[in-house]
Amino acid sequence: MPSFAFLKGQFVPLEDAKIGIMTHALHYGTAVFEGIRGNWNEEAREVYLFRLEEHYQRLISGARILKMQPDYTVSRLCEITQELGRKSGLKEDIYIRPLAYKSTEGMGVRLHELEDDLLVFVIPWGAYLDMESARCCISTWRRPADNTIPPAIKIAGTYVNNAFTKTEAIENGFDEGIMLTPDGYVAEGSGENIFIIKNGKLITPPIYNSILAGITRDTVITLAKAELGVETEERPITRVELYQADECFLTGTAAHVTPVSEIDSYRLKSDGVGLFTARIRKLYFDIIRGKHPGYMKWCTPVYGNKTT
Ligand code: PMP
Repeated sequence: MPSFAFLKGQFVPLEDAKIGIMTHALHYGTAVFEGIRGNWNEEAREVYLFRLEEHYQRLISGARILKMQPDYTVSRLCEITQELGRKSGLKEDIYIRPLAYKSTEGMGVRLHELEDDLLVFVIPWGAYLDMESARCCISTWRRPADNTIPPAIKIAGTYVNNAFTKTEAIENGFDEGIMLTPDGYVAEGSGENIFIIKNGKLITPPIYNSILAGITRDTVITLAKAELGVETEERPITRVELYQADECFLTGTAAHVTPVSEIDSYRLKSDGVGLFTARIRKLYFDIIRGKHPGYMKWCTPVYGNKTT
């Protein structure tokens, strides 16, 4: 199956998409990225890109903070992504990785007076946290404060913090690590936001608690209200509240909605997949595959039902 990338303004075969060893972003992490999923719908024989525009809006606004001036509008980036998807011809779940990066080949720690480029590539990608429910630990690595490196932006360099967390969790026999804020409240997983349910209340950390404003997080908040009549409380969560939760789940483009069964040595009351988590997860999976007529506005078809 041919794979393509979009690099320096052109579509090129993936094996020809190369950048030089002196590229600024490689040395200093000066890049922002997105992770976007395309979800295969067998009946429609279509790949639906989930909340494509919102992902590109987040990318462009992050790129501006890193003092980049991307040459592309959100709508052009959406078109480029659809075209990449069609060129690749994949008829399965896919993952799209856009990266806006400082492309100058030269040294010097700074953000100013550097050129930038925006690349995109697409790969087949199935489940990420591939288990019925995840076992999590509290990471010894804390999420950075907003005035350390803003966690609200998907800055490539920041992800070393996430990588420490993930590897520590795996090496200690867990599936995922949950990071706390610098002052000890619950922040998020290495690649996911977190929700708990306690006494019928749905609670998630607020944006100011060192989290990424996840698009899946927003999807869950929207669906909980519109479809299940449940308002989400966005407020700081303590570590002990996490241990005492009735249910807990993680949300993210890669991880979808993943139930949490255990945190550190504590098994949660739901002991697997909780009732609320199961309901929201079912809705979410229908919606991302374009199986819910009410939410087709979030699903951009790759093929437009023409070539499948
Ligand atoms: N937090 C972090 C640190 C992430 O990397 C991600 C994945 N992008 C998320 C949360 C979830 O964000 P989204 O739902 O937009 O994928």
